[in-house]
Amino acid sequence: MGTYWIETLGCPKNAVDSDKLSGHVEEAGLVPAQRPEAADMIIVNTCAFIEAARAESIEVVLELSERRKAGARIVVTGCLAERYRTELEVALPEVDLVVGFGESPIPSSVPVELGLRPVPSSFDLLTLPRPAPSAPWAYLKVAEGCDRRCGFCAIPTFRGDQRSRATGSLVEEAQALAERGVREIVLVAQDLASYGRDRRRAGERDVDDLDTPGAQPLVDLVHELDRTVDWLRLLYLYPSGLTDRLIDAVLATGVPYFDLSLQHASRPLLRSMRRWGDGDRFLSRIERIRQMEPDAVFRSSFILGYPGESEEDQRCLISFLETAQLDWAGFFTFSGEEGTPAVTMGEQVPHSLALERLAECSELQDAITGRRRDGLVGQTCTVLVDTPGNARSVREAPEIDGIIAVPAQLAVGEFHDVSVTASFGPELLAMPV
Ligand code: SF4
Repeated sequence: MGTYWIETLGCPKNAVDSDKLSGHVEEAGLVPAQRPEAADMIIVNTCAFIEAARAESIEVVLELSERRKAGARIVVTGCLAERYRTELEVALPEVDLVVGFGESPIPSSVPVELGLRPVPSSFDLLTLPRPAPSAPWAYLKVAEGCDRRCGFCAIPTFRGDQRSRATGSLVEEAQALAERGVREIVLVAQDLASYGRDRRRAGERDVDDLDTPGAQPLVDLVHELDRTVDWLRLLYLYPSGLTDRLIDAVLATGVPYFDLSLQHASRPLLRSMRRWGDGDRFLSRIERIRQMEPDAVFRSSFILGYPGESEEDQRCLISFLETAQLDWAGFFTFSGEEGTPAVTMGEQVPHSLALERLAECSELQDAITGRRRDGLVGQTCTVLVDTPGNARSVREAPEIDGIIAVPAQLAVGEFHDVSVTASFGPELLAMPV
């Protein structure tokens, strides 16, 4: 029987696609290999978000190509394949097949050689079945693509406009995951807060005031899924979509975790990025949520070195970080992406300066995160054990934030009450109570 290996690069949204591709190739009769060297087919699910991600994707393809056994095929899929298919086909003779999002990674000649069952050569990744989960948590991708056009982002050019899945099919998938031991579902989409707006009936007018009941389909989805799974977590919320009703819905799940996609705090720079908001508006939402739930947790990510970014913009961001006291934050330097407005803008910031600004922000945020983690020592909390000895509370998103080290004998996939006994930067140590 043929075997496969999937190497996944990039973000959680890609991880869901890989999950679905696994389901698809297993349907054809392939079984997972223990390591890439043993696989008959190696699928590399690439990332093309920024230059560094593209370089890493190509490096991984070349490395796996060297390690593959004789006769094994290399298939490249994902964002890089979708965006640069022709270039990859020419530049990487090592690769046997380059496939876009809606195409099967199983080349037509393989079913004969490996005795596989025929599978559809085209499909919709969003709705493919997924294999049994290997962890007590799972990502659930609720939409693909994005209707916004942020100045730095090429995603809409190759993922297209937003296409949301129907609530019913998402609830079914969540139920199936819960029946197979998943205790936490993490919702992902390029612009999660806008989930479902593309599904409005033809002719139905968009509702400008998102706080009108029924105007934000994500609110209803959160209520539905909250009945299905123990923990529900939302990633990538565009800040203008953080409505009062959505805040209420998130707090009602018992997972008061807010991952806000802010990108910067300076109003002129955000306008130049073609994005909504400014530091004051963000702070007032954060403050309001903390008044409602003092234990609310906040994560965000920021871009340093966007064209035109001044020292004043940097001071604005530093002051925002000092005031906001976010629990977690990620910082990235600007990368000029082909086909985006930002590449042709004047006042490009030297990369070395962007790196300096990034270091300043990271150093500040590391200290804030460390202090917030120190403040948890002595507290008790409920954790979900992901793997022996590694657990998380509602404060930590899987694969992104810190972890809580617990005794190895605590049952995996179960909730346990623990007391935090020590902190080491982002990581905590806890013992059962
Ligand atoms: S909202 Fe996110 S995915 Fe959409 S264009 Fe902006 S950065 Fe890109």
